[in-house]
Amino acid sequence: MFSEQFVLADRVLKVPSSPTLAVDAKAKALRAAGADILNFSVGEPDMPTPAHVCEAGKRAIDAGHTRYTPVPGIPELREAVCAKLKKEQGWEYQPEDVQISCGGKHGLYNIFQAILNPGDEVLIPAPYWVSYPPMVLLAGGTPVLVPLQQERQFDIDPAVVARYATSRTKAIILNSPSNPTGAVYSLAALAEIAKMALAGGWLVISDDMYEELFYGEGKVPHILHADPQLQGQTVLSNGVSKSFAMTGWRIGYSAGPGKVIKAMNKIQSQSSSNPAAPSQYAALAALTGPQDFPRQMREAFLSRRAYFVESLESIAGVSCVAPMGAFYVFPNFSAYYGKRFSGKVIDGSVALADYFLSEAQIATVPGAAFGADDFVRFSFATSITTIEKGMERIKRALAALQ
Ligand code: GLU
Repeated sequence: MFSEQFVLADRVLKVPSSPTLAVDAKAKALRAAGADILNFSVGEPDMPTPAHVCEAGKRAIDAGHTRYTPVPGIPELREAVCAKLKKEQGWEYQPEDVQISCGGKHGLYNIFQAILNPGDEVLIPAPYWVSYPPMVLLAGGTPVLVPLQQERQFDIDPAVVARYATSRTKAIILNSPSNPTGAVYSLAALAEIAKMALAGGWLVISDDMYEELFYGEGKVPHILHADPQLQGQTVLSNGVSKSFAMTGWRIGYSAGPGKVIKAMNKIQSQSSSNPAAPSQYAALAALTGPQDFPRQMREAFLSRRAYFVESLESIAGVSCVAPMGAFYVFPNFSAYYGKRFSGKVIDGSVALADYFLSEAQIATVPGAAFGADDFVRFSFATSITTIEKGMERIKRALAALQ
C-alpha cells in the first residue's frame, strides 16, 4: 500500500513535532472531552488582543487589504519597526533591513534557511526554546548546545560558550528574557559574547520576543548595548505575539544586515510569499498606537510570578529561580525523580509531566523538551485563580509520590 511503502524525507525523521504545541493540543482535547484540565503548557498571553488592534485588522479587510503584499511585508510596517528600534533603542535600520514574517518563529526559520550550510554550527544556550535545534537541523546545520547553570540564574557564561565554539561556528542564538527559564543575561556576559562574535565572525541571532516582559529596572540588557559595533552582524528577531497578545495573527519581524535579510526574502518569496495582509495592518496599529498594553500585561504578570515562585519554593525538594522576564517558571523537580506512583517510576520530566496531567489534571511542558530534564515548565500567562488551584493540585500530587 502507498502508506507503507511511501518514504518521507529524512529531514522529517530528524525532528520532533513542537512539544509546546503538542501538549497544548492534548490539554485542549482533554478539556473538550470534559476533563477539568488546568493548562500551564503553551506560552501565550491570556488577555485578548487590544480592541484598537482588532479594529485595525477589520478596517484593513473592509479597505480591501486582502491581496498579496510585498514579500518582506508592507512598507509602512517595516518603517514602523525601524521607528520603534530607533525610538526605544537608538538603533538605525532602514526598511530594506527588515522582514515581516508569519510570527517570530517563521522569521527564525527563514534566518536558518538563509545562512546555514551542512557542517555549520549554531551555538544554542540550553535550556533552549524547543524550536531552535529542530530549525537548525531542518536547515542542514548542526545545533551545538551550550549548558547554562541554575546556580548562575541561567545567565549565559562566556567561558562555557568559548568551550563549545569551533572554527565551524556560524551563529549564536541569544534569547533574553529566555523561554523557558525567564533568565535575563547580564550585560557583562553579553559584552564577552560580543567580543567572541566579532573575533569569530559569527552571526548573532537575538530573539527578543519577550523584551517587553522584563521584571527588572529599565531596559533589558542587550548585546547591541554591550557593543554597538556588532549591529552589522546581528539579526534581531521579534514580533507582536507576546507584546500585544497577538499569537494567532502570526506577525513577527527580523531586522539585520541587508545581505541576510535579502536572502531571507528569497526564502520567503518561495514559501509563504508574505504574511497575511490584514494581520500586517493590525500589527501596524499595535506598533504605532498606544503603548500601554505591554506595561499593563507586565503588571498583571508580576503578582502571578511572585505567587508562583513563592509557592513552588515552599515545596520540599523543589527549587525555582525567579524569572526576570517572560511568563514562565522553570522549577527543578529532580528530587522527586526515582519516586513512584501506583508502582510506576517517575524517571524524569516526561514521566512527571505525564503524571501531573493524568493524576492532577495539570498540563505542563517537560524540561526534556528544552534540553533540561531536571525541570518542568509552567506558563503563568493564566489567571491567578488557575495558578492557585494548580499549586494545590501540584502539592497534592507530589505528596502522593512514594
Ligand atoms: N513560544 C511559545 C511557547 O514556548 C509558543 C509555542 C511555540 O511556538 O513553541 O510555548
